[in-house]
Amino acid sequence: MTLSERIKHVQQDLSQLTQTIADTALKHKLNMLVEALSYIALDASPDEMTTSVSTAIELKNGRYVFPNQKGFYCPNCFDRDGIKAVTTRINSKLRICSVCKTSIK
Ligand SMILES: [Zn+2]
Repeated sequence: MTLSERIKHVQQDLSQLTQTIADTALKHKLNMLVEALSYIALDASPDEMTTSVSTAIELKNGRYVFPNQKGFYCPNCFDRDGIKAVTTRINSKLRICSVCKTSIK
């Protein structure tokens, strides 16, 4: 169970508790706690925050590196045609794009 799921469980317990309470001041206080917890749950949720960061394309040494994908891709082909062209290693300092044949250092 993730942290945000645990927080949701606490929220549900608190919500159920407020329904059994007749004291309006105490009820109001508990409702505020439930609301505060929903903000904490948002902060604790790793999904939405990390996806926007990890989908960013990185430019490393003149080659594009896509997250969750191995290998280096040609920046020319991606910028021009939006395609991920694999670069082939020629030697330790040189790669060549398999599509446009541009050499990438
Ligand atoms: Zn290319």
